[in-house]
Amino acid sequence: MTSFTSSPTPDNTKDHPIESFTYPHSVQDDPNKIWLEKVYRKHYFNSSTEIELDDYVSEHEFGFRLFDGHIRRHLNFKNKRELIASIIKFSPSDVFCSPARYQYPSASMDQKGWLGADLIFDIDGKDLQLDCAQIHNMTFCKNCKVIEKGVQSNCSKCKSSLVQVIELPCQNCIKNLKKEVTKLVEVLHEDFGIDKDNINIFFSGNNGFHIHVIDDNFFRSNSMKRSSLTQYLLGRGYLIDNLGFRVDTSNNITLLRNKIYYNRGWRARLLNQLHLQLKNHRLDDKFIKKITHIKETNNLGILDMINNQIQNISVKIDPNVTIDIHRIFRLAGTINSKSGLVKSRCKDLNSFNPFTESCIKEDSLVKVNAFVDTKTAFNGSSYKIKTGQNILPEYVAVYVVSKGLGDIYIEK
Ligand SMILES: [Zn+2]
Ligand SMILES: [Zn+2]
Repeated sequence: MTSFTSSPTPDNTKDHPIESFTYPHSVQDDPNKIWLEKVYRKHYFNSSTEIELDDYVSEHEFGFRLFDGHIRRHLNFKNKRELIASIIKFSPSDVFCSPARYQYPSASMDQKGWLGADLIFDIDGKDLQLDCAQIHNMTFCKNCKVIEKGVQSNCSKCKSSLVQVIELPCQNCIKNLKKEVTKLVEVLHEDFGIDKDNINIFFSGNNGFHIHVIDDNFFRSNSMKRSSLTQYLLGRGYLIDNLGFRVDTSNNITLLRNKIYYNRGWRARLLNQLHLQLKNHRLDDKFIKKITHIKETNNLGILDMINNQIQNISVKIDPNVTIDIHRIFRLAGTINSKSGLVKSRCKDLNSFNPFTESCIKEDSLVKVNAFVDTKTAFNGSSYKIKTGQNILPEYVAVYVVSKGLGDIYIEK
């Protein structure tokens, strides 16, 4: 039974929903929102098969964010057909589904009867702090409504600090995000024995990737266990002693002779990064000679070198997403309203291009009034968008309007 209950619990969807993305030029009965809602409905009507669900639809909690800004949580559907009918009817700006399964998914949080939850990871472009993002992202001033190129902490026109960054990920952003995903998959597989077939990779629909792990060993894990896993992935609290040597305060190196480990996991990754290979997994005098050599030939102290390498090889996940076992998370195959792109499965991560594979298919030509000049590429064509009126296919127009870079132009 579909029941719309208003949310009595603090909302913990990933995308900070309440303040969420405010359309920079939003007005009451915003034509942009009215138009987007119509395009989304058309998309869901034509492409509902893209929506991905497991075999336990009735045990998940669903959440809709509607174009009027309201969030409905604790929704429950008997089956996929009922869910899709509801998505087409309400045409939500965002659709969420709990990685958790419950006895009573529509009950309040403490009455739901938690059965377990798939293990999820979120890798977000914001956390990579890439140099390119500082240049190609834009800044919208909520005070004077000006959009400037680059990331600014204050509006350069009115000096207001009420600014909002418009994320416009480029191919370099995507490449670096993929690198993080690859690291994550390797660690989950090598250090935790998770079968690669059980690791599902999705483009988040905006500026990141979501990884869903289906594994019985983690399904019933509580937040604490998931938290330890995130600490491991982030390389937090790593003891350098585990590398088999110790560096004292005077920067002297001692070999910890009784430390013989299999050369796997973090230890192997770190030693490899430092170009320290172990023979037969044993530490010997040759090993200490090599460390001493590194120490003497580098300006950086050995501890700093190790810490830098930990930074390089740790996986930049958002730990809160993994730890929260009651969260609702964007549903695969639905549109992300921050961009108008679909959260879509990456069958081949290396070749995956979100600007081709995650676009909606709606391609009728529409008029968009752009606020700034910008360049984008979709479906293999590049689009030079000029300030003022542009004629664009709907899949490009949805991106421009969702990003707050232009208004849809409706003939009166
Ligand atoms: Zn301003
Ligand atoms: Zn970039």
